[in-house]
This record gives sequence, C-alpha cells and structure tokens, in this order.
Amino acid sequence: MQSKAKKILIVEDEPKIVEVVEAYLNNSGYETAIAYDGLLAMKRFEEIHPDLVILDLMLPHLSGEEVCQRIRRTSRVPIIMLTAKVEEDDKVEGLNMGADDYITKPFSTRELIARVNSLLRRSDEGISPLFHKMSWNQEDLVIDLERHIFKKAGAIVNLTPNESKILCALVKFPQKIFTREELIQIAFGLDFDGFDRTVDSHIKNLRSKIETDSSNPDYILTVRGIGYQFGGKS
Ligand code: CA
Repeated sequence: MQSKAKKILIVEDEPKIVEVVEAYLNNSGYETAIAYDGLLAMKRFEEIHPDLVILDLMLPHLSGEEVCQRIRRTSRVPIIMLTAKVEEDDKVEGLNMGADDYITKPFSTRELIARVNSLLRRSDEGISPLFHKMSWNQEDLVIDLERHIFKKAGAIVNLTPNESKILCALVKFPQKIFTREELIQIAFGLDFDGFDRTVDSHIKNLRSKIETDSSNPDYILTVRGIGYQFGGKS
C-alpha cells in the first residue's frame, strides 16, 4: 500500500505558474492546494496543515514575507520561496524570514520538484533547518546568516558564494551526511554537469579558511565513501 500523499500548499497569484507547478507536483504523487493571495494562504494553511508550502513573494493582500512570518509563529513546516528577485542579499533575507529554500523566477519545474523532495525528506528526518546566528567550539567559528558574516577565531573570513552555500548547507543539517552530488546541487544548481571532485576543491579551500588544522578538521568532516558532514560542537 502506498503511504499517504504529502500535501503541498501552492501560494501564487500567477495562474500559469500555478497550473504548471500543480501538474508537476500531482504527477510526482503530491496532493496540492492553491491560494492565489496571502490572506487565502493563511486560511488554507490553517485548514489543511500542509507538509510543505511553496510561497510566492509578491502577492495580493498579504505579501509572501508576511505570510512566511505568520506561518512561522506557529509552524516549522518547510517553506520554499518563489521570487523574481535575484540579489544574493534578498536570498539571505528570504531565508531569514524563515523560508528554508529560495527559487528565483524563471525556474525549472524539475529543480523545484527536486527541492520539494529534498526538503520533505529532511523534515521527515526531523532536522530543523532554521537558524540565524550560530557558533561552535566556544565561538571559534561564528556564522551570522542575517548579516552574512563568517568568523574564525574572531576574525572575519571571506568566503566565495559557492563556499558559503556549501558551508551553510552543512551547518544547517548537522546530522546529515551530504554526498558530493548534493553539495554540487546546493552550490551550483541541478543543471551543473561538472565533476564530483569540484566539490573537493571547494572543501579544501573552505577548510583552509575555517579549520585550525586542515589535515585534522573540526568542522568539515570527511565521511569516507559518502561525502561530508559538519562536526562543530555548539
Ligand atoms: Ca506574484
């Protein structure tokens, strides 16, 4: 027997996007509910208790930001933001509002589904992806996502966008062992067709920036035969 279908709430005011996203989600075995504006989104959310929310940023009546904040008062349901904004700052802002992931329009439906699957898998595992500022090993490593600041032993460390994406993914899911493929998807998106070993060179650079001893790392641990896992102690 099939397990109960997960319910996904699509909050989007553009009918064409709703149509495509709904069709793909249904094809992938998900149940869907639709809200075309922010107020309706809150109503639907309370009615159906979805397993995941796909939330457009620009909405009538109540913005996506506001909807996200209201949902977060009571729920840790995974939220994927859809937006036309492309600036990295906005991306960080969206994640700070409490969204778990962010997709910029125009997006590929395949990529959206992949992110939906991955967030649902993580929420099944009980891993909470929410955080703003965190520190490990007695403030040896500090990450302030709100201001996008990384510090090692009190000094600011400059990370490339790919390094920062990889590090943030690792720290957000400390129990998870990431494969190279997953880190590639996080850093470069799904359509990147480079070699797995590209990740290794990013890891090497990251370690040189945040580890006290790169050959004996505290934070980015190699899990032999699988990939990488975060090892910081909070
Ligand atoms: Ca919109």
